[in-house]
Amino acid sequence: MTSVSIAIVGAGIGGLACARTLQQYGRPVTVFEREPSARSRWQGGMLDLHDTGQAAIRAAGLVEEFRALARPEGQELRGLDPVTGELAHHELPADATMSAPEIDRGQLRGLLLDSLARGTVCWGQPAAAVSQTGDGTARLHLDDGTSQDFALVVGADGAWSRTRPALSDASPVYTGETLVETYLDDVDTRHPALARLVGSGTMAAKSGRRMLSAQRNSDGHVRVYAGFQAPRDWHIAAGLDFEDTAAVREHLLTVFDGWHDSLLDLIRDSDGGFVSRPLHVLPVGHTWDHVPGITLLGDAAHLMPPYGIGANLAMLDGTDLAMAIATHDDLDQAVRAYENLMLTRATAAAQACADLTATITSDTVINVDAARQHLNERIRDAQPAG
Ligand SMILES: Cc1cc2nc3c(=O)[nH]c(=O)nc-3n(C[C@H](O)[C@H](O)[C@H](O)COP(=O)(O)OP(=O)(O)OC[C@H]3O[C@@H](n4cnc5c(N)ncnc54)[C@H](O)[C@@H]3O)c2cc1C
Repeated sequence: MTSVSIAIVGAGIGGLACARTLQQYGRPVTVFEREPSARSRWQGGMLDLHDTGQAAIRAAGLVEEFRALARPEGQELRGLDPVTGELAHHELPADATMSAPEIDRGQLRGLLLDSLARGTVCWGQPAAAVSQTGDGTARLHLDDGTSQDFALVVGADGAWSRTRPALSDASPVYTGETLVETYLDDVDTRHPALARLVGSGTMAAKSGRRMLSAQRNSDGHVRVYAGFQAPRDWHIAAGLDFEDTAAVREHLLTVFDGWHDSLLDLIRDSDGGFVSRPLHVLPVGHTWDHVPGITLLGDAAHLMPPYGIGANLAMLDGTDLAMAIATHDDLDQAVRAYENLMLTRATAAAQACADLTATITSDTVINVDAARQHLNERIRDAQPAG
């Protein structure tokens, strides 16, 4: 088992957590990533790491490095009344607690990348598909027309996985909810009132199915999300071109008509353009019949609504798969053991997310901390003891 060839498709945080743990156990692994380099794309906002994500960090031997970058104060949550703009709900972690510290996604990814042996990630190598060879191994087909055989190909290639079709016919379904994302830079100097509105962590205001939230990242950068229910191609129906920032801004202001000015300023004063992110999910209980030589982790296996657990689960999946490979004599038995554990946990998590979705259709204020604790408890309950 120490020399079996393993390919991971996708250098997201799930794939990288898997690669790191495999290398700690001396297992050779190659990661194929479609992006041309580590810095070719902004990696997204902040993540808070719960016990699932923190377990992955411990297994990866990166606790000290993680603590040096983590922002415990980022756990602050400010819930504002959409009409008055007043503070309606406030969650502030106990002094510097590390129960679910925040970290910029790009920093977390950089931490994992830096921990890998040089040359582990093949950049600019998009996978086109994965197929079975007939002898229990798998063939990875790259976009450039070449292919390579491996004892195991791990699909860690996210929502629109090219690996998943080798195992399942499922594809992500639009939830009916869209997030439009923009950002503010250097907030403490350039947007002091908005800096106070957002606080040290996350600010959210909600009315029915409309939500405005903003999240402080490191270096005075704030990501803003405007969420609402709409058909997937709502912007086409509205005659909007996302290159036309002013027109999108005007449209969003009409969507949030009647909301307090202090909140609307997040849209009015944004420094960046707008990006539409329609939210998709895989069916609750998504599963497949085991296929030797191929498996999935993270969003490729169990895409869920963004309730703050997907990245945590992706990292834990990667760690669990690597540990199973390290502790079994037989690769196929290892992958089966991992799939049993991961699919049970993913089903429980996806069901808990679906239940949460059902409760937040009303106008009740969401206690995010309690909601996340509940999600994590249901994930823990689905895990075997120990
Ligand atoms: C707005 C938003 C906010 C979120 N906030 C949180 C949060 O606070 N906490 C949390 O835990 N989760 C959060 N999530 C969920 C989280 O982002 C995902 O669950 C997590 O990123 C999944 O990790 P992954 O490694 O499985 O996939 P990804 O992070 O999607 O990584 C997939 C990688 O595969 C690469 N790739 C894709 N296709 C190919 C291909 N064909 N060939 C080669 N490489 C390929 C991609 O470039 C990427 O590098 C959020 C999601 C959204 C949309």
